[in-house]
Amino acid sequence: MLIGAHVDYEDPLAEATARNADVVQFFLADPQGWKAPETRPDAEALRASAMEIFVHAPYVLNLASTNNRIRIPSRKLLAQHAAAAATVGARGLIVHGGHVNKGEDVAVGIDNWRKALQQAQDKGGLPTRVLIENTAGGDNACARRFDELARLWDAVGEFGVGFCLDTCHAHAGGEKLLDIVDRVKAITGRIDLVHANGSRDGFDSGRDRHDNLTVMNDEPGMIDPELVAAVVRAAGAPAVVETPGGVEGQSADIAYLRAHQ
Ligand SMILES: [Zn+2]
Repeated sequence: MLIGAHVDYEDPLAEATARNADVVQFFLADPQGWKAPETRPDAEALRASAMEIFVHAPYVLNLASTNNRIRIPSRKLLAQHAAAAATVGARGLIVHGGHVNKGEDVAVGIDNWRKALQQAQDKGGLPTRVLIENTAGGDNACARRFDELARLWDAVGEFGVGFCLDTCHAHAGGEKLLDIVDRVKAITGRIDLVHANGSRDGFDSGRDRHDNLTVMNDEPGMIDPELVAAVVRAAGAPAVVETPGGVEGQSADIAYLRAHQ
C-alpha cells in the first residue's frame, strides 16, 4: 500500500523523502485564495519522480455554491488547477464536496456540480481526474452525509470523477468508520485516495480539526487509530496523512499505517 503525507508546496519531493513517503499531496497555490497556480520549477522532477502525486484544490473553491461570485470563479479555478496538476503528473485533483448556504436546497448545489462538470467536458475535459472529498461540517453540504453523497454521485458519476475518503471528516461528519469502505463503494464504486487522519473532535461534531494517528487525543468518542488503519487496508488505495507535527508527527503516522497493513 502506498502511504504518504500532505506537505508544504515549496519542495514537496524533499518533504516526502524526509517522511519516507511513497505518495505526496500538496497545494499549487494559497489554499485560502483565488490565485491561479504559478509554473513550478520542479514540474519536470515531479513528473519524472517515482512518487505518486496528488494535488489538493484551494478550500475557497465551491462548485455547489448558489452565489455567482463564488460558483463562476470556482469553475475557472478548477480548470486552472486541473491544468497545473497535469504539469506535475498528478494522479488526481482533490476537491471538497462543497455546500449551499443555510436555508438553501442541497439539490441545487448538486445540480451546480453537474453543470460545472458538464461545462468542463464541453470545453474538452479536464486533464486531471477530479476526486471529490467528503467534508466534516455544515447542514447544507453535498458530501458530508452519505445520503447526500449518493444524490451527488447520481448527478456527477457519469463524468468520470473519483472519490477521496477523509477519515476525520467522516467521523466528525457523522459517518461511522466501521464498514465505511463498503458503504462508500456501494455509492461511488471506487475510492481513489484515503486521507488517513485522526480527529480532535467527537463523532458528528461537525468540526474539521485533524489529529495524529500516533499521539491521538484518547478522550471518549475520538477515532481509534486501528479503525483508520483498517479503512486504509480495506480501501486498497493510496493513503495520505494530513496530520500536524511536521516531519516528526507525519513520519510517525506513516510508519504506524505501514506497520498496520
Ligand atoms: Zn482531507
